[in-house]
Amino acid sequence: MTAHPLFDIGGRTALVTGSGRGIGLALARGLAEAGCTVVLNGRDAARLDEVAAALPGDVHTAVFDVTDGASVAAGIADVEERVGPLDILVNNAGMQLRAPLLEFTDSDWHRILDTNLTSAFLVGREAARRMTRRGHGKIINICSLQSEVVRPGIAPYAATKGALKMLTKGMCADWGPHGVQVNGLGPGYIETELTRPLVEDEEFSAWVRRRTPAGRWGRTEDLVGGLLFLASAAADFIGGQVLYVDGGMTSVL
Ligand code: NDP
Repeated sequence: MTAHPLFDIGGRTALVTGSGRGIGLALARGLAEAGCTVVLNGRDAARLDEVAAALPGDVHTAVFDVTDGASVAAGIADVEERVGPLDILVNNAGMQLRAPLLEFTDSDWHRILDTNLTSAFLVGREAARRMTRRGHGKIINICSLQSEVVRPGIAPYAATKGALKMLTKGMCADWGPHGVQVNGLGPGYIETELTRPLVEDEEFSAWVRRRTPAGRWGRTEDLVGGLLFLASAAADFIGGQVLYVDGGMTSVL
């Protein structure tokens, strides 16, 4: 049996920000395995080269800081010149800072906003300038279950992810009429470097398993199916939505 042609994204070119490790790396691998030309991004050139060499297919690297407008503009222009027109952009780069709000510093506030929210605006805008001109493109913003719910100690992170959900809808409103489709993918608790302190906290880790209807932490590979779907023609009439891949956690009290 073969997959339905609506799901075939072979031959497209995709950029995944923050793809040297964790969720971004799993998503980049999924896109490469689906036959896309993939561009990895991050700030560590050596790491990206190592990862690129281990992935199947046509894989390139683009080293730029997603929080810096000038670097983003130069980075996207360079990717399109070296690799070709981007069909798919995955805004994945992000960070977490855990601290009670009263102890949260001004500089940390700006850092997490820049990394999790401004980055999607900067990279999305550069990519969409080109995609809207060509009349097609898919942008997928990596949101979070914390786009919907929050716990003590992560208010700034949740604020960035909640705003990213609305930015996703706004991008859809502005760019949808020009053929660029924008959606979000909202991971639940996934084991990566970002969540390592939580995984290592046995009490918290057990709470996640209890609270998740699926009864376990998510794996980075759990996110691949949702991404490939949103990037494919099967999702062509879906816009401005966030698909939560969280084992059901966001849906239950
Ligand atoms: P990791 O910390 O494992 O990876 C984050 C990636 O982002 C790294 O590859 C890092 O690359 C990159 N990055 C960070 N800052 C920048 C920057 N300024 N410019 C370019 N790249 C940058 O995190 P995860 O894989 O866990 O998270 C990926 C995304 O998924 C994030 O947006 C996160 O908020 C979201 N998410 C994660 C969840 C989880 O449970 N893990 C749950 C919900 C959402 P480098 O530092 O090498 O440049």
